[in-house]
Amino acid sequence: MSAQENPTIEENKKSLNFIEVIVEKDLEEGKNDGRIQTRFPPEPNGYLHIGHAKAICIDFGIAQKYGGICNLRFDDTNPVKEDVEYVDSIMEDIQWLGFHWENVYYASDYFQQLWDFAVQLIKEGKAYVDEQSAEEIARQKGSPTQPGTESPFRNRPIEESLALFEKMNSGEIPEGKMVLRAKIDMASSNMHLRDPLIYRVIHIPHHRTGTTWKAYPMYDFAHGQSDYFEGVTHSLCTLEFVVHRPLYDWFIDQLADSDYRPRQYEFNRLNLTYTVMSKRKLLQLVQDKLVSGWDDPRMPTITGMRRRGYTPEAVRSFIDKIGYTKYDGINDVSLLEHAVREDLNKRVMRVSGVLDPVKLVLTNYPEDQVEEMEAINNPEDATMGSRQVKFSRELWIERDDFMEEAPKKYFRLTPGNEVRLKNAYIVKCTGCLKDEEGNVTEVYAEYDPMTKSGMPESNRKVKGTIHWVSLPHSVDAEVRLYDRLFMVEDPAGEKEKDFRELMNPASLIVKKECKVEEYLEEAKPLDSFQFQRIGYFNVDADAAGGKLIFNRTVPLRDSWKKQNN
Ligand code: ATP
Ligand code: MG
Repeated sequence: MSAQENPTIEENKKSLNFIEVIVEKDLEEGKNDGRIQTRFPPEPNGYLHIGHAKAICIDFGIAQKYGGICNLRFDDTNPVKEDVEYVDSIMEDIQWLGFHWENVYYASDYFQQLWDFAVQLIKEGKAYVDEQSAEEIARQKGSPTQPGTESPFRNRPIEESLALFEKMNSGEIPEGKMVLRAKIDMASSNMHLRDPLIYRVIHIPHHRTGTTWKAYPMYDFAHGQSDYFEGVTHSLCTLEFVVHRPLYDWFIDQLADSDYRPRQYEFNRLNLTYTVMSKRKLLQLVQDKLVSGWDDPRMPTITGMRRRGYTPEAVRSFIDKIGYTKYDGINDVSLLEHAVREDLNKRVMRVSGVLDPVKLVLTNYPEDQVEEMEAINNPEDATMGSRQVKFSRELWIERDDFMEEAPKKYFRLTPGNEVRLKNAYIVKCTGCLKDEEGNVTEVYAEYDPMTKSGMPESNRKVKGTIHWVSLPHSVDAEVRLYDRLFMVEDPAGEKEKDFRELMNPASLIVKKECKVEEYLEEAKPLDSFQFQRIGYFNVDADAAGGKLIFNRTVPLRDSWKKQNN
């Protein structure tokens, strides 16, 4: 039966992304003995961001789905920018996302093998030491429409190149004075094949190999070969490497001595609106102290998102939704925020927090009476049960839930109007007290004892419901309201301006005088909640010294959408 006759096969094929289609075809054809092996290859020169999460999901996801393995390989071939701090954070972030590597490898473990391969190429007349300056070499590159010029060192004797290559690594040759180049084709239509540099001299010690090496392989020379040494079958990377693929294959052709060979496939990078994604730019934000660190909750880093209260499930669900294609584009950050809301909605408790408090006094409620009101913890999940919340004559409510003179459709507290206090009574506003400057200092209302749940009039309908916190049972908290870090959709794409000039001055608003319900006194760092009517918040990881600090993970609704419509 063909796929067309069998709707289930057809359906399955449709839901596969193009990489899965390739993998299934390779399996059908028995390529690489039916083995599936992938790798996630970060360079340890910064923290992982959500773009990396996209790569992680496909690298680990393919291995998981097809019974293969995925290794973590640190692509540490440039000692100038790399650090162990980054190695540790990368491991932590991958695990947080919910993935497990089979082995941890370092490209630096292959320095000897790579060296030996380079020597082999020299001996075969396929590589040579070039003594020209970087500028000179660049000038000879030609252009996509014009062939390059051959280096005067291109045809030097093999013995000479072998001896100089040794010197490049012994410390005798200063940085920038010599490079090793593959001898391929200076007239190739692919610029990457015009005698690419494969080794350069760097005198800075390496974070793992110390001062053993002075000659370091270039990315293109290390990457595919590392894949080959490890037995990778599907080397997944982003679209900018499409043009590198012929070079990747050229090296593998020189190296392979059996049917096995790794193959490179490219998918679209993740770009998100209202943020920057390159590690270099993120590092600038950190170094210039424009954010509090790599884990600032506004950063698109995994560590920042974790601190902010994003869940790994939400991040993975977002990546699943945007999918993998062969076309670059930019994804709307509101899709990510939507995924976060969707996930937190299912899993977190509803509590009361008042960000901008004003006192509400129920003038007909007995002075020293305290009642316990039942509050459902999560209407989306009955197994989360309910809790008792204390209620009294004096409550904190949001300042903007009262207006002395309100427009017609204002269904909150205004003199003469009734609202329900969430989980408690219906109250009728009777007025307010103001200070000399006209600021409201207290709001007054009368409660209707028949409207508590279980009472005869508990189902009486009123148009508005507001949240509250009992004043004597409230806890002080600081709340940090985070918003998008940049004011424009594509800050890195603005050519006239430095991206740092485009930062959103209101990306962090600190509210120091918030009141939250008693229950939250016991909350632990990173615990997440929904503050009813406001949004999702988590306890900041650094909340120290008994002070409660909440981060706004995401508001309940997308306020940016409203502005734009
Ligand atoms: P950056 O440009 O931010 O510095 P990078 O590509 O240099 O990132 P690496 O550590 O080399 O970062 O990346 C490790 C893996 O993650 C690579 O396979 C790379 O293709 C992938 N990756 C990096 N950024 C993105 C992104 N925005 N979307 C998808 N995959 C990405
Ligand atoms: Mg890279």
